Amino acid sequence: MIEIIETPKGPSLDEYAASIHLANAVDELRDTAYSIVPKFAGRTLWMVNSTAKGGGVAEMLPRQVGIFDELGIETRWAVIGTHRKELFDLTKRLHNLLHGAGEPVMTDADRALYELVSRELQAEFQPMLGPDDVLMIHDPQPAGMGALIKRELDLPGVWRCHIGLDEDLPQTRAGWNFLRPYVSAYDRAVFTAPEYIPDFLADRADLVRPALDPYSAKNRQLRVPEVVEILGRSGLMIPTWRLLKPPFSHPAERLQADGTFGPATEPEDLGILYRPIVMEVSRWDRLKGWAPLVEGFATLKRSIPSVTDVDHRKVLEDVALLLVGPEPAAVSDDPEAVDVLNELTSIYRSLPRELQRDIALLSLPMTDSRENALMVNALQTAASVVVQNSVREGFGLTATEPMWKGTPVLVSSACGLRQQVRPGIEGEMIRNADDPDEIAAALDRLLRDPDRRATMARNAQRRVREEFLVFTQVRNDLRVLERALG
Ligand code: UDP
Repeated sequence: MIEIIETPKGPSLDEYAASIHLANAVDELRDTAYSIVPKFAGRTLWMVNSTAKGGGVAEMLPRQVGIFDELGIETRWAVIGTHRKELFDLTKRLHNLLHGAGEPVMTDADRALYELVSRELQAEFQPMLGPDDVLMIHDPQPAGMGALIKRELDLPGVWRCHIGLDEDLPQTRAGWNFLRPYVSAYDRAVFTAPEYIPDFLADRADLVRPALDPYSAKNRQLRVPEVVEILGRSGLMIPTWRLLKPPFSHPAERLQADGTFGPATEPEDLGILYRPIVMEVSRWDRLKGWAPLVEGFATLKRSIPSVTDVDHRKVLEDVALLLVGPEPAAVSDDPEAVDVLNELTSIYRSLPRELQRDIALLSLPMTDSRENALMVNALQTAASVVVQNSVREGFGLTATEPMWKGTPVLVSSACGLRQQVRPGIEGEMIRNADDPDEIAAALDRLLRDPDRRATMARNAQRRVREEFLVFTQVRNDLRVLERALG
């Protein structure tokens, strides 16, 4: 099945350029586009991926499509699907292999299934294409279909890979061996980090960083009253004034001592706007380093009796840790996420009572993606430190987002996070995400020194403005597409 997705009309480039922080990036984009866009006359650019909702790619595509269109390149977004459910198991295994996980085998039967689905999709998609159209195919799922079409119609084509690992393992080799015949067909292959490029694609590889839309619900700058309003309407805070707008359709919830989820303001208000808040927002994935973060935070709290500086001692007494992720109902079909959530629940229940008061596991409803984005935005804005303690991370928009908001970050040294943060410059870095003592020491350093925190946060914001906004991404994509056109 091929579904064409209509993207909502977002802000225009002029509206972005009205912000003094963005004007430069928009100008640079227009400069680059000036010479490249005419080469697209009479061609449609097709963005193809495998999901319209959920995940980083689906999050980034609508704005990219909108900007390409405004620049004068007719752009369409196609999402592939299949009734052959066995394909999901195959692509999930392939995805894990490219991240270095799982049994390092792909069978002949796997290949036969992948090629069968690729041919079925080709039959449906090819008739929609014009003779001069251009393909930009995202990730492994549609790569086979794109390769067949590219060979048959001889269209310019780019394969954009959003995943990768900075290690050569039997798993990654098995994954790349499987994909090699398809992804070798493209003119260019695009990666997030140089470490992810397999040797056989080195001659045609380009680097483009993921990016965020500075005006989206998740990343637009919130004014203080808006933060207060969102925290009140989402049930993350007891409002001290009546709410002028109705509560969100689904409130955030908080894990209670008995293992059930209840209101986020029970057993008591979290004091989000009044206390130092350390927070990680992510999917319930073991590779996000949740358990060591809880242990590191507990270690930090245990250090209080030995702290002599009175002011710092107050900070450590008051600091709270928020573990924030999607509501259980949204992950019920993901056995790994259910396991991780259960694991964290039992870790939480085994904590001493006073630590349970300072640590909250928050579940954010996913039914309304705008409300979800606003909650994430308000929390990232209000936090004193956002942590991303990933054991592995392809890029980590959960670090980019607080960096953009001027919130100090503490990240692990996973490859994707190293692309964004230089230790001591854009944020603090933990070398070993599994070491609670190192996490506690890094949190202690950050919480002790507000000036250093502020300097790093400013550097981080500048880094995002210069490198990780959608304008830079589209500009780099344009250069890649120009190369693909030859
Ligand atoms: N996210 C969210 N709600 C949640 C948890 C995560 O909106 O409860 C978002 C987060 O803000 C980010 C994305 O999901 O935009 C995760 O992207 P990232 O690149 O950090 O990691 P991935 O999930 O792709 O491994």
